[in-house]
Amino acid sequence: MPEYETHEHDVLVIGAGGAGLRAAIEAAAAGVSVGLVCKSLLGKAHTVMAEGGIAAALANVDDRDSWKVHFSDTMRGGQYVNNWRMAEIHAKEAPDRVRELEAWGALFDRTKDGRILQRNFGGHRYPRLAHVGDRTGLEMIRTLQDHGIHQGIDVHMECTITRLLKDGDRIAGAFGYERERGRFKLFRARAVVLATGGVGRAFKITSNSWEYTGDGHTLAYDAGAELIDMEFVQFHPTGMIWPPSVQGILVTEAVRGEGGVLKNSEGRRFMFDDIPDNYRAQTADSEEEGWRYTQGDKSARRPPELLTRDHVARCINREVKAGRGSPHGGVFLDIAWIKDRVPGGAEHIKKKLPSMYHQFKQLADLDITQEPMEIGPTTHYIMGGVRVDSDSQMSSVPGLFAAGECAAGINGANRLGGNSLSDIIVFGKRAGEYAARFAQAHDLGRSSQTEVDEAARQALEPFDRGPSGEGPYQVQYALQEMMQSLVGIVRNEAELQRALDGLSELRTRAARVGVGGHREYNPGWHAALDLHNLLTVSEAITRCALERKESRGGHFRDDYPDKQSAFGTFNFVVRKGSGDAMEIVRAPIPDMPAELKQIIEEMK
Ligand SMILES: Cc1cc2nc3c(=O)[nH]c(=O)nc-3n(C[C@H](O)[C@H](O)[C@H](O)COP(=O)(O)OP(=O)(O)OC[C@H]3O[C@@H](n4cnc5c(N)ncnc54)[C@H](O)[C@@H]3O)c2cc1C
Repeated sequence: MPEYETHEHDVLVIGAGGAGLRAAIEAAAAGVSVGLVCKSLLGKAHTVMAEGGIAAALANVDDRDSWKVHFSDTMRGGQYVNNWRMAEIHAKEAPDRVRELEAWGALFDRTKDGRILQRNFGGHRYPRLAHVGDRTGLEMIRTLQDHGIHQGIDVHMECTITRLLKDGDRIAGAFGYERERGRFKLFRARAVVLATGGVGRAFKITSNSWEYTGDGHTLAYDAGAELIDMEFVQFHPTGMIWPPSVQGILVTEAVRGEGGVLKNSEGRRFMFDDIPDNYRAQTADSEEEGWRYTQGDKSARRPPELLTRDHVARCINREVKAGRGSPHGGVFLDIAWIKDRVPGGAEHIKKKLPSMYHQFKQLADLDITQEPMEIGPTTHYIMGGVRVDSDSQMSSVPGLFAAGECAAGINGANRLGGNSLSDIIVFGKRAGEYAARFAQAHDLGRSSQTEVDEAARQALEPFDRGPSGEGPYQVQYALQEMMQSLVGIVRNEAELQRALDGLSELRTRAARVGVGGHREYNPGWHAALDLHNLLTVSEAITRCALERKESRGGHFRDDYPDKQSAFGTFNFVVRKGSGDAMEIVRAPIPDMPAELKQIIEEMK
């Protein structure tokens, strides 16, 4: 019987972004022992890349804001298939979580009277995003790490979990490998929190880093938990498109929040051409009104560039397809034009958007204070994820919790910018709290030795097959190419069906993939292990997209271009069916309480 380096924790948190760190802090504060595992070095999670800000109705810049407006904006943005209870909790608790970050040392940008400054963002009625220039995620991670470091949390860096372990129905721990030496690690735990982030690497053009291969989604699914809303993938409208080496890197929505405008090759602000009915009353009639909104005029309405991401991405797609795109296949995003309108001109832009200035200067040799940027949509975020209880974040597997991007519910069909950073601290805290309670009430489960040995055997299969056959990257690239072209921004029945067929061929190829070399820092081996996760989330996205025969939020079908009210009454749930085949079922959305319905009515 092989020996594995074994660790025992009351609560094991998998993922050290905002959600994982916040969960670990809360669990440790409850007095249980906590282990925190992350794929790369602590501090390098996606959260650190977040730019624009954290959405919370602090009402510091516009006193008309409140949790009720935030709740109704989130539901409208999600096209009403959100888990309304999560949207309610999120809107109510986000301000306290932001103030708590401040109390723990986060240095936010300030209003003139010294309060946390808030900026405009797409789909938010009032300026709501607490921010630190365009480096908000860095400040969040720094603060959470500084605070967490004193809580006695055991951190296991550069360790990738490949399987969750169970004792009967309930969770008992996790199994994984460490990158440096390639050795296996066994974690025994009373409760496990998944906080593994997103799935962007399933697509070719993405703002996501190499870590985002849908691991948490797949670990949960393989352990018998349910996924929900997987068809809803967010294509952020503004990613870099040129030069090719930087394609997909995010251009924060804060550029538009600060007054940046979108133009086609004819120089027209095409976003005025198509304003959805449910946003018409809140959208500016003229360019001048839109500008006044970005400068804080409370009587003005927001410019159409700040409509929701799903809509803006589709408008850009339409301009490009109609031949009105920029030279490299996108459109123009212009912030330089504001320099004649604000005191300090170019310096003002650099101060508000320091990362964007450096990003374009260094990567594209372009000065955004002087010239427009070329941008196009990029795969950014997944609204779908592990189905959890709205209050406790526990999945359908006892003792298994999920929070942050790998969990689902709050965003419905489309996430508003800024709502992820608030989601991860609101629900990260709750997951940590309830996981600690679960751990206090349950003994350590025991996973079978056979299950652990099987996890180790499977992880080594790519070495057994050796390097002579197809390599993992060929399969990964083929998958990304296919998902981008067949399951991307605009979908239809025939292409989705082709994608499903393609996925089954890719599974066959993935099962033959072999690698050479040794186990120390072997990226080929890691890429081979990621394939199962990428294929699982891709299949879930494609199957749900086939089932949703309408267009809503991030999911657009050109064979069903309209929203159908019948599809607004349920969510698609993904689970393992008989013979391990993926099964999609419909789960009715519970009726919303009268007081929440009334809030939505009042805010229309
Ligand atoms: C460029 C960019 C800008 C963004 N800007 C904003 C913004 O301004 N506002 C906003 O609200 N949102 C923004 N987002 C989205 C937001 O940053 C993410 O949705 C959010 O940070 C996710 O946090 P998380 O804690 O769920 O996961 P992450 O921060 O993604 O962390 C996931 C963690 O899980 C670990 N992990 C993954 N798989 C495994 C495994 N198998 N084993 C062990 N560990 C694993 C990773 O190593 C990492 O530590 C942005 C995203 C990007 C990419």
